Formats: sequence, C-alpha cells, structure tokens
Amino acid sequence: MRPPVTPRTNRGSLRQPMSVDSHSAPNFIRNQVREEIEAGRQDTIVTRFPPEPNGFLHIGHAKSICLNFGLAEQFGGQCHLRFDDTNPAKEEQAYIDAIKADIAWLGFEWNGAVRYASDYFDQLYAWAQHLVREGKAYVDDLSPDEIREYRGTLTEPGTPSPYRDRSPEENLDLLERMRQGEFAEGEKVLRAKIDMAASNINMRDPILYRVRHARHHQTGDKWKIYPSYDFTHGQSDAIEGVTHSLCTLEFEDHRPLYEWFLDNLPVPSKPRQIEFARLNLAHTVTSKRKLKLLVDQGLVDGWDDPRMPTISGMRRRGYTPASLRKFCEMIGVTRADGGMVDIAMLYHAIRSDLEDNAPRAMCVLKPLKVVLTNLPEDHRETFEVAGHPARDDMGVRQLPLTREIWIDQDDFMEEPPKKFFRLAPGKEVRLRNAYVIRCDEVIKDAQGEVQELHCSVDLDTLGKNPEGRKVKGVIHWVSAADAVPVEVRLYDNLFQVEAPDRDRDGDFLEHLNPESLRIVEGYAEPSLAEVEPESRYQFERVGYFCADRHACQDGKRVFNRTVGLKDGWAKAQKKG
Ligand code: ATP
Ligand code: MG
Repeated sequence: MRPPVTPRTNRGSLRQPMSVDSHSAPNFIRNQVREEIEAGRQDTIVTRFPPEPNGFLHIGHAKSICLNFGLAEQFGGQCHLRFDDTNPAKEEQAYIDAIKADIAWLGFEWNGAVRYASDYFDQLYAWAQHLVREGKAYVDDLSPDEIREYRGTLTEPGTPSPYRDRSPEENLDLLERMRQGEFAEGEKVLRAKIDMAASNINMRDPILYRVRHARHHQTGDKWKIYPSYDFTHGQSDAIEGVTHSLCTLEFEDHRPLYEWFLDNLPVPSKPRQIEFARLNLAHTVTSKRKLKLLVDQGLVDGWDDPRMPTISGMRRRGYTPASLRKFCEMIGVTRADGGMVDIAMLYHAIRSDLEDNAPRAMCVLKPLKVVLTNLPEDHRETFEVAGHPARDDMGVRQLPLTREIWIDQDDFMEEPPKKFFRLAPGKEVRLRNAYVIRCDEVIKDAQGEVQELHCSVDLDTLGKNPEGRKVKGVIHWVSAADAVPVEVRLYDNLFQVEAPDRDRDGDFLEHLNPESLRIVEGYAEPSLAEVEPESRYQFERVGYFCADRHACQDGKRVFNRTVGLKDGWAKAQKKG
C-alpha cells in the first residue's frame, strides 16, 4: 500500500521543497543496506550503474539510477558509472555521450572516471586462461545451433560436447589463436566446464568468449574475441570493489553463475548480486530495442521525441529531474514482478513539482475573437499580476487589456447545458485577473460559423463581485493587439493500450496511438514574447507546458504540453 496523498488544504501557501519521504514507498534494498550498516557488517557501500551503450536511457533505467546513486548518496558510499560494453556491433559513442548527459541531468554524479567493462578485457582474458589451466574451461568447436541442441531443456539434462575433455594445453593454445583472429565467427567458443546436467541451465557450461571480428568503440581492433555478459559483469564488479550489485529479476537465475566465477577466480573482492523488479509503465515500452525500432522507422522524431519514455524525451517534454526522482521514490523497490505502474502516478509527480515551481501565464489554444464594445478603440489598461500565486520570488507580469481579445472557443457555447458556467449569449463570465463581461451578440459568417463575440465590460467589477448577482465562471484570455503567436504541441500516450508489448499475437507497433501528437497555433500573453528553451509554465486553466529545447530559436515559440491540470492519481488516492 502506498501512503495516501495529503489533500492540499493550504492552496496558495508556499510548500517546502519537494520532500522525497512524504511519498516514498518501501525499498527493501535500502532497508537491507541500512541494517547491514547499523549492525556493523558493512562500513561503506559501492554500487554501480551498468548501462549497455546500445540506445538511450529510459524511465526504467531512471529507477535503477535512482536506486544505485541514491543508496550511495544516502549511506555516504560511492556509485560508479560503468558501460557494459561487450557487444561492439550494437554499441556507439553517441549513446555513451547521451547516457552520461542524462545521468548528469538527473542530478547524479558518478564516482571517479567513467568506467568501461572493456577496461578489464586484459584481466578478463587472464582469468579465462586461469580457468583453462585449472581445467575449468574449454574451447568448443560445436556450432551455435549444436550448442543449443546439446544444452538440453528445462526437463532434460544437457549432453557434454565431444570437445569438453581437451587438455589445458590444447585449450590454451586454441584460446590464444582465437584471440589472434585465426578463427571465423561461430567457429569456436570458450566455455566454462561446470555441469551439463545442472537444473539451472545457466550452469550448463556457459559461454565465456565468442569470436567477433568487430571494431570496438573503446578498444578499436585489438580484440577478435569478446567476453559474454556473464563472464564480464561480476568480475568487473569485483575489480571495482562493488559491494552491492543490483540488477533486475531476470538475472536471478544467473546469480549461481555470478557466484561461481567469483569463487573460482582470484578476484580482489566479493560483491553480492541482489535482484529487484523492473519498472513496467502503462502505455509505454521500456526496452531499448523496441524504442530503437520506433526511432529507426521514423515513427517518432528521434530518441528525444517528447512522447518517448526516454529520459531525454521526458526532459524535452518538460519533466524535471526532481519529478523523475520523486516518481522513482514513489514506486519503491520490491521483488514483486509483473506489476504495471499507472502512468497517472508519473503525471502526478511532475504536476506536483510544477504546481509549486512553474510560473503562470495565459495562453489561448483555440482562439475566438471577442470585441469589448463599450471600450474605446484605443483602450489600453495594464494589470500587474503575480508570476505565481504563492511565490513572491517569481515577480509580476504585465497583462494588457485592449478592446479586442482572444478567448478559447471551448469557453463559449451558443446553447449551453445547465451547468455551463462560461460564456453564452446573454450570460456573464469573469476574465481572469480582470473584469466581468457579458455576451451581447454572436457574429456569424455565411456558413453560420461563429466568427466573433460582441461583449460589454462591467467596469465596476475589478477585484470585486458585481452588484446583485453571482458570476461563477472565470476564463482566460489575451489581448489581441499584444498577444504573441505560439505553436503548441499537444501530446498524448504513445500507445493506446496499457501493455503494448504483452500482446503475444500482434506487434507492439500496432498499438501506436495515431493521435499522440496534435499541433495547434495559439496566442499567448506578451510576457511570453521571449522564451528561454526549456522554461516551464502553467498555462492557466490549460495545463503545464515546456518551451521546446530545439525549436525555440530565432524568435520561434514552441511549447510542448507536459501534462494537463487534472490529477487523476491524487484523486484516486483520496477516494481510497
Ligand atoms: P533494455 O532491455 O531496455 O535494453 P537492459 O536491461 O538491457 O534494458 P542495460 O543498459 O543493460 O539495459 O541496463 C542498465 C541497468 O538498468 C541494468 O542494471 C538494468 O537491470 C537496469 N534496468 C533496465 N531496464 C530497467 C527497468 N525497466 N526497470 C529497472 N531497471 C532497469
Ligand atoms: Mg542489456
């Protein structure tokens, strides 16, 4: 159970900077580390975040980053950034650069230099030779298909390879020749000699090295063989003195192998692997492979498309580092797999940050002209209004009122239903921060479409209620003479269904939401004439928006909708 959200009774008063604890969910790894430290079993901790540089980081990685860097921060330990770069064919320097930038943007600092598993290739090779000398590894000539057949199944034991009993001398020689590039890819592999009948298939002589004639982004052409993930990960942890090696549950069955290497090699330390459940977020996919497909097929505008669940996409959409960190706190860390996190929780995290920290502005997305007929042609009056209702530090903005203004088409109805408190013929509404107006006349074109409204201003309503009647509705508006045109990109979920990648019969791409992006041209108040890229605003009554990092240049104003105003998640929590 998550703690319920405290209803906000103090609307308008300044809240403390967002505290993580008020929303934290259980984190069993943090509890365990705390216990170890309190009991004196551990005096310091070293964690690592080990991405493979084969794509951009996504929200699932944010969970792992917050966990690993967060523990180090909390317990005065260290967290390393180590690229798990054993598969040169799929890796790129551009991904390395993007991953570093994302971690730094989230506000975390890795300890020491950036590390690479490839820094340890020499040591790993020496350890492979060590296993060979000890009779614990052998060169196998079976083809990849044969290796799969010989491996057996969950119910049948495997069959030993006919090459399993080569002598250490012969194996050492073959391994060295593999390294020199004498063999073709797939011709030979190095395998650990463990147990072909083990109930855990990972222990049935796992592969340690494959021949790969690929240029590596860090080591160039030096290597013709590359170590497997399993042979690399634990030993890299051991070399770095990692104490807690945290990974997702799919590695649980690899733990015996992780430990076998540490027990059978002269490693300098003994890290411990602890598994936790990965984050699955509704309406998204969290697999770099699938995200790459979206990018490669041009279905999105690159890795940082604001619809992508990548950290860089979320940044461009308007998420703040604090909101992502808070979200990761809210979801907690458990071993319970298979759950799906409601995307409303993510929206809640960003909304509660921006509610407190985003300045306000008025922007009309579907403009409808209103002529204020009882104001003179040259009327100009300027209201000074707060940048934020509860934040004096955000200063004030100047809001001009002129005879012609824009309001939103949705705030007018010719034949309104009963509870419509906005503008309608003969009805009154308040212009936010200004006067009450009444709609006197609806001007239509030849097709009967509403062209503009003629309204009159009650000049006796500034900062006070009108005499003898109640006006319930308040609408936003901008002066037509002063408004600045803006492009607004309205985003919706990228996928229409909750679990696009759990569709066994279809392709996840079939579930793409064709309306995930709608672009409109609107008018904003003049305080937005000059916008800094990445500045965030609450457009009053509309939602939270962020000036696009790339498009806001040369005087162009382009806003991405981060999230709407209604908080479905907080509401659901209150209901219980
Ligand atoms: P992907 O399937 O997206 O490629 P991955 O696990 O292969 O993910 P890595 O670059 O190997 O990606 O992951 C780096 C770290 O992030 C690993 O420790 C991994 O367990 C963790 N991680 C990846 N996805 C998630 C997720 N959805 N939730 C939590 N942690 C994750
Ligand atoms: Mg991976």
